[in-house]
Parts: sequence; C-alpha cells; structure tokens
Amino acid sequence: DEMDVDTIWMDGEFVDWDDAKIHVLTHGLHYGTGVFEGVRCYDTEKGPAIFRWEDHLQRFYDSCKPYDMEIEYSPEELTEATLELIDRQDLRSCYVRPIAYYGYDSLGVSPGDCPTDVTIAAWPWGAYLGEDALENGVEVMVSSWRKHASSQIPTNAKTTGLYVNSLLAGEEARRNGYVEAIVLNKEGNVAEGPGENIFMVRDGEIFTPGLSQSILDGITRNSVITMAEEMGYTVHDDATISRGELNTADELFFTGSAAEVTPIRQVDNVEIGNGSRGPVTEELQSAFFDLVNRRTDDHDEWFTYVGE
Ligand code: PMP
Repeated sequence: DEMDVDTIWMDGEFVDWDDAKIHVLTHGLHYGTGVFEGVRCYDTEKGPAIFRWEDHLQRFYDSCKPYDMEIEYSPEELTEATLELIDRQDLRSCYVRPIAYYGYDSLGVSPGDCPTDVTIAAWPWGAYLGEDALENGVEVMVSSWRKHASSQIPTNAKTTGLYVNSLLAGEEARRNGYVEAIVLNKEGNVAEGPGENIFMVRDGEIFTPGLSQSILDGITRNSVITMAEEMGYTVHDDATISRGELNTADELFFTGSAAEVTPIRQVDNVEIGNGSRGPVTEELQSAFFDLVNRRTDDHDEWFTYVGE
C-alpha cells in the first residue's frame, strides 16, 4: 500500500485496512446520515501532536444531536483509539478521519433500530489544495450552486450528506479550470468554500462570515481568529460579505483542517490584491505553521501529543 497504512479502528476493534467493510444496505450510505471529522496530526518538534483534537471531538458529538445519533464510545475511548491507531501505524504527520453513521438494520428513512457505527482512520495527507497553493494561492470560481441554508439543514453539524453540495460546487469549479469554489448562501452572500471557511482582509482589518451565514463553525477559523486578535488585528467574525466585495478585497484566504491557511489569488479571473499571497495572509499563515509544528510554546492546550 503506497500510503503505508494497514489498520482502521472500527466499532471498538483494530481491523486490517482491507477488512474495514460494511453492508451495502447501510442507512448512512442511502441517506447521508453520518457525521464526521477531519483532523490533522503534525510531526512537531515535540513528536506527533493532534491539533485541537478535543474541539474536533466536541464537534463530532455535537454533530450527532440533530440526528438523535448516539455514539456509544466515550471521548476518552475515542482518544485512546486514535492515539493507538497513529502509534500502531508509525504515522507522524497524518490526517485523522472519525466517522459515525447509522448502520445496517432497516431501510426506512427513519433510522429505527439502526446502530450508530463508529470508525476512525488515519493516513498521510499532504497539502489539500497542493503545496504550490500554500505559497502562491489558488484561483477560485464563485459557484453557481448555493449552499443549503441553515433553515433547511443544520449547517453547523458536519454531516456526510451535506457534502454532495460541496462536490457540486468544487467539481463545477475544476471543470472550469479553477482549483476550488466559493459558495454563496441562499441570501447571495459569501458563505465558505466546499471544505473551507473564508477570510477577507480590507484596510488592515480581517473579516469572516459569521455562523448565521450558514457556515460550518470551523476549528481552523477559530484558531486563526484567536491568533489574529492576539497579533493585534481587528477581526470582524460575524461579517456579511457580498459577492462584489470579494473582487475589491485586499486579500482573501481559505482556512480548514485539510486546507490549513491557503491564499486565494484570483476570483473569477479577477486578481485579488496584487494577485499573489498578501502580507497579512502570509503573516497569519506563517504563525499558523509555526504553531502547529510547535516552533512556539503558544497554545499548548490545543495539542494532544501522541507519545504521552
Ligand atoms: N466549512 C466546511 C464546509 C468544511 O467542510 C470544513 C472542513 N471541516 C470547514 C469549513 C473548515 O472547518 P475546520 O477548520 O474545522 O476543518
């Protein structure tokens, strides 16, 4: 296996990667009734460390609530399983994917007696939008697809079914030669990327859409807001950003566990700022990478060390 991974934690047991299989009549496969997380573990100066594991775990349990889904494992059990999974596979820097979903029992839309199955996988995963993207930024397209409104589906729960919208937006962008999409909400304001939150810099201040704009409450978003404020920036974290403001922004960037801090250099073929990574983006991005690689002692409470 080119990824050099061989084990998956599945419903309480470590199983061989190739044996981690489920029934085709699994409820979650038919109706998108799963919740998941995407978390990064960094190969830090102090050994492998999972960034904001506790917060991801909290969101994982919270995402279950609208669906009345009950994870039968405690946070301690899931933490122990994850640390052992990383350790067993000798992973240092990796991506961790916990998922819980209604399993196999009956196929009415009502989950009835379907169990809530839980799996955790971990594998090496490089820069989400490419190494080059981190340095030079990405070209994005404002999608013709709107994001589902929070009145239609809970957008603050990280539900598997929501990602058909992300796929539509992202693939439309890629078919048109762009790297990623920006998705507007039902009101036509800027919401987020298919798997990223979005930030705008204007006149030295930082703006990002608030939770009322039908976004996922991103953990990287929260980290960047916290760090930017500590660096002295004014952050408007409940901003309403219109489509036209994207074009006149000084800087734009995406945040996400997978995307980390990725500059946006063009929107719909219009250059943002001078068309490359802007200075505020660069400052925040380098602070972010210093932090997650533990080249600073700041926010040690955000890290779960694998070796401990
Ligand atoms: N929005 C969406 C729709 C996402 O899928 C993600 C990735 N989880 C984000 C935002 C960023 O969230 P986080 O920083 O917690 O990864």
